[in-house]
Order: sequence, then C-alpha cells, then structure tokens
Amino acid sequence: MENSGELVHIGRPKRSKVRREPNPKRASRGKGVYIHTFGCQMNVYDSEKLALLLESDFETLDSPEDADLILVNTCSIREKAEHKLYSLVGGFKNLKERNPDLLIGVGGCVAQQEGKNILSRSPLVDFVFGTHNLSEVPNLVARAQSGVTGQVAVEYRDEWEELPLAGKGGRASTFVSISRGCNKNCTYCVVPTTRGPEVSRPVAEILQEIRLAAIRGVREVTLLGQTVNSYGLDLLPRMKFSELLELVAEIEGIERIRFTSPHPQEIRSDFFEILENNPKVCKHIHMPMQSGSDPVLKAMNRNYRMKKFYSIVEGVRAACPEVAISTDIIVGFPGESDSDFEATLEAMERIRFDSSYSFAFSERPGTKAAEFTNQLPLEVRKERLARLQALQDQHTQEKLDSWLGRETEVLVDGFMKSAPQRVQGRNSQNILIHFDSEYDDLGPGVFVSGRITRASRYTLHAERIRQGVSNEVPSR
Ligand code: SF4
Repeated sequence: MENSGELVHIGRPKRSKVRREPNPKRASRGKGVYIHTFGCQMNVYDSEKLALLLESDFETLDSPEDADLILVNTCSIREKAEHKLYSLVGGFKNLKERNPDLLIGVGGCVAQQEGKNILSRSPLVDFVFGTHNLSEVPNLVARAQSGVTGQVAVEYRDEWEELPLAGKGGRASTFVSISRGCNKNCTYCVVPTTRGPEVSRPVAEILQEIRLAAIRGVREVTLLGQTVNSYGLDLLPRMKFSELLELVAEIEGIERIRFTSPHPQEIRSDFFEILENNPKVCKHIHMPMQSGSDPVLKAMNRNYRMKKFYSIVEGVRAACPEVAISTDIIVGFPGESDSDFEATLEAMERIRFDSSYSFAFSERPGTKAAEFTNQLPLEVRKERLARLQALQDQHTQEKLDSWLGRETEVLVDGFMKSAPQRVQGRNSQNILIHFDSEYDDLGPGVFVSGRITRASRYTLHAERIRQGVSNEVPSR
C-alpha cells in the first residue's frame, strides 16, 4: 500500500445523473465503453490498457449512461472497497433495464480476491477479471456478447502479460508500469495477495513503450511499481533500478523521469548518485515511512528501522539539496502506544516532509494485521490522524512559502479547472503550479520558467519569466 487511493475515471470525470433516454449524439456511433477506476496510479495505468485493448470495438466514454460496456476497476486498499463496488454497480441497474445488452465487467484487486463471489452477490455483473487477466478482457466481452454467462478469469501468470503499448497523444506526462506485485508482505497490505509476487517487466518493452510515448509528445514519464526500486532483481542478468533510469533518460524527447514508490529497504548508493548526477531524474522522492516507531515498523513487517530511514533522508538531501520528500503514514496501527505515535510526530518534525498521504489504520480482510488482537479504538485512530495531519499541513505550508520569489521550471500539463484559459503544471518537485495570467502560446508539453508570486494551500502561483525547453506536443 505505497500509494494513495483515489477515485479516478478514464476520460473526463463527470458526475451526472442517469438519463432515462439514450443520448441522440451517440445514436449514430459505434459501441461505447465506460471504465470506472478506483485506486492508485497502477489501476489508472491498467484502465488505460483496457481502453486500448478494446479500442477497435469500443469508443471510450466519459460517463456510463450510453455505454454498451461498463468496466469497474476496483481497489482493495482503501476502506469499504466492496461496499463501494456494489453500490456503484447497483447504480447501473436502470441502465441495464433500459439496455438489456449492456455488459458489466468487474476487474482489479477486489475482483482478484473475490472472484466468482462477485457474480453471486451482484446479478448485474456479467464477468469478472483479475489483475493478471487484462489481455483476456476482449475475449470475455466477445463471449458475453454471444450469451456466455458467469465468466471468471482470475488466474495468476508468472510471465509479464503482453498489453498494447501506445497511449493517447496530446498529453505531457504518462505512467509506465515497470514491475508488478510485491514480495514484501507488510502485515496491513493486500497487494501481495491481489497482485501476486513481484515480477519485473522486460526492459526492452519498457523502453519501447516510453519511446512511443515520447513520439506522441510525452515529456515526463512516471515509472510505476509497488516497490519500484527493486526492479530487476528477478531478471537474468540482474539489473539495477538506477541502470533502468539511465536508459530511460537516454530516450529522446523524455525530459523528466519520476517513479513511485521506492521502498526504503532497497535504496542503495547508486540511488543517491543518479539523483545527484542525472538532471532528468526529478527532484522529488515519495518514500513511504508508514511509522516513526521501530516497534510499529516491526509489527508492520516493514524491514527497515528509523535509523536507516533517517540516513536515507540525509543521503537524498546531501545528493540533492533541492529535493522534495513526501511519504505515506499509517496511524493507529494495532498496538501503537502513545509513545509510538509521538515517535512518528518527532520523525515528521525532524524530516519535515513536503507532503504526506496519511491514513488511520483500518483492517483489510485477508491481511495479518486485521487479525491482530490489539486493535485501537476508532476514536484514538481518528484523533491521532487529525493531530498528524495538522502538523503536516503546517510543514507543507512552510515548504510552499519557502518558494515565494523563487524561479522554477514548470512542465505545463493542462488547464486550470477554475479558469480554463490559464495553464497549470508541475515543477521538478512535483508541486502543482497555477499561472495567474493567460498565455496563448502555452499548452500541455511546454516547459516554462515561472517566478512564484503566491502560495495557497497545496498550490503555488506563478508569473511567466520565459519559456523553457520548447517541447510542444506535436499536433496529430
Ligand atoms: S506489501 Fe508493503 S511494500 Fe508491498 S505493496 Fe504492500 S505496503 Fe507496499
């Protein structure tokens, strides 16, 4: 559980009520698929692959009302994952009544865990597919269209699943998965169960996917893996994560490389060296700490201790003084004492993270920690979370304020929701930056230098100083 879980849609998100009548605009088109994605970047990436797998038969839609196929890509990391799934699918009932040919498939981590139980619990669902079975989805759909019911494909594969490489054009950055699964077995996490043991993706395939993305105008790539920096340990010959970063950095057109999430146990000297020496590697590390207390880390089966974590933070900052460090923290883990929690607050004071994703511990079915008998009362967990988040807000604001008057390079990635004529983007430290004026010549894929004029909550505001590397997305 190294990443935050958020609700994401493939296509532009829309919260609209279910319409009773078919949309006349869609009547003349081919079939449409709506993909609803819960969870982390890995799920977003998988949903993009699903859209590509189906694109010869289905146009990707922004909302479910006119869909012929609905896919729900689930996540079991956040609370009430199953409840969210069944409540979402239940909301599609009237769409099924209106269009009896509508198919609904459920995939992702909940599907991997629950398999055929999903079909028995929700008669609206036509088929279920697991985290290793994306490439089977077109066949599942075809068979369901021909009347086959009750299909479940949740078998693990040892090899890397072959999926389409090319993504959409017209975007500045993209995710690329470099490994799948996890061998760490943290006691609170379902990933080793739902995604299986760690498997590194063949390097040639990773590089080919990034090359294609660069040709389509992508300038920034985020490499994804549950423990992204243990990439290559299972390959023959072995490959270091830093060697992969070097190869990615050589790809023409790619100007920035991010990765999420590195595991503290796997960080070695080559990691500091590449951060210091390769200008394409972004000055931002998201490194999950989870707790500042050694006994809690032990109970979590996080196999590093705070002495090591502090030394990594020092090493990262020595290699790259301008680096931003963010983290994940769980509070209220079973058995966490007042002094354990204080140790986490002390660690935050000492490290002063730029930002953090923090959660109150909640039991995940199928994990060891869910069976621990020393669970804390919910009020204690919530109260600790509120204290921790208040401290983080203070640190985040201090960090943002420290940018006032400074110059920073921004990769424009889109337009502000509140003012669609103005661009926004991120700097190397991954801070969201809004430009307060309109600049007709700026668009996604352009690098621009800005001077920070204002800091608001979680966001910086800038005025343009000059355009940076000219990297406009090619028109197509
Ligand atoms: S088992 Fe631990 S390291 Fe692996 S994905 Fe879960 S939280 Fe991350």
